[in-house]
Amino acid sequence: MANTESPINPFETAKQQVDIVADLIGLEGGIREVLKHPKRELTVNFPVRMDDGSYRVYTGYRVQYNMARGPCKGGIRYHPQVSLDEVRALAAWMTWKCAVVNIPYGGAKGGVICDPKHMSKGELERLTRRYASEIAAFIGPEMDIPAPDVYTDSQTMAWIMDTYSMQKGYSVPGVVTGKPISLGGSEGRGEATGRGCAYVIRESAKDLGLHLKNASVAIQGFGNAGSVAANILADEQGAKIVAVSDSRGGIYNAGGLNPHAVEEFKKKSGSVVGFPGAKAISNEEVLETPADILIPAALENQITKKNADKIRAKIVAEAANGPTLPEADTVLFQKKITVLPDILANAGGVTVSYFEWAQDIQGFFWPLAEVNSRLERVMVQSYNDVHRVAGERKVHHRTAAYALAIQRVVDAIRIRGIYP
Ligand code: GLU
Repeated sequence: MANTESPINPFETAKQQVDIVADLIGLEGGIREVLKHPKRELTVNFPVRMDDGSYRVYTGYRVQYNMARGPCKGGIRYHPQVSLDEVRALAAWMTWKCAVVNIPYGGAKGGVICDPKHMSKGELERLTRRYASEIAAFIGPEMDIPAPDVYTDSQTMAWIMDTYSMQKGYSVPGVVTGKPISLGGSEGRGEATGRGCAYVIRESAKDLGLHLKNASVAIQGFGNAGSVAANILADEQGAKIVAVSDSRGGIYNAGGLNPHAVEEFKKKSGSVVGFPGAKAISNEEVLETPADILIPAALENQITKKNADKIRAKIVAEAANGPTLPEADTVLFQKKITVLPDILANAGGVTVSYFEWAQDIQGFFWPLAEVNSRLERVMVQSYNDVHRVAGERKVHHRTAAYALAIQRVVDAIRIRGIYP
């Protein structure tokens, strides 16, 4: 999902990130190549009956990047700009993300090229069920477990779970996570990405001596991750949300926006744009807002070498996957901005997905307080691990997170050995 000005291939970014860390930890050519290739890729073209009776052929993907540490895990995205290289990059990032928070998974990702905003619920259900049956042979609780991502949600997961279960002849709740609670979903999964992001911001702020009470926060993308992070930072830390945006544009109020009221407004009107009492700004301006904390919570390739110099935050916490290009990383590092990388900052979602899968397999469910306290423990531990490696190796947090994650994946590959 490159920005329109400069089409950037996210998989090239993903491979570049591997090389940077492979050089740092002195990884030899063979294993390095393994880390730069997806293990398995599936492309499916399938027809869907539209409401007007016509048929359309859609293209979908599922990429299983690496399963050295356990079954593959990762979301499914519905978006017009989905491409195989984007899904490959996202699958690689899932591999490192699961390793950085040390949950026993490899990484995968799926996507369907479609425009969900212009499809009816019936069309989305038929698309989802057909895509699910096309990839059914490659997923399962022990093999590859999808979850929600951009423009998919718990309803999408319910349809996948049902389609897969119908084919098996019995209910298989552990085939997907991010399900509705009534189908074996976990308490706290819906808000886990935003909550996890708020925890790592809190830990980083402590290290930097930044008080979160009244600290200003700008958020690009007011979907599941961005809106929840806003609510938690405002409600639990007393931070002031000064700017937010969605795909239609942004809003700004130096005195602070009430994120709950913005959420309500967006629910009714479809966008944050037009929220009373706020100044209209563009999506790019949200990134450049004078705020202590910037949370890119939308899509890839948002912080580039063009705008990196204009970022004024002390902390950039990546709730989105891949929002910062490697060239921009260097600029942010020189400006002494702390970047909490995506594979750490948004790992709360997959962490509670892991809890959901574990609960499904045991058929034993935990109360919300237990989910949240386990999530907090994982996020704090992972932040501390990354921060320690950053200090030891004198690198920024992204490189540290990658070094930690890649080392864990490499250890698993080595100890298993190369088959045959
Ligand atoms: N799509 C989310 C991510 O990018 C969640 C994946 C999952 O829960 O498996 O991390």
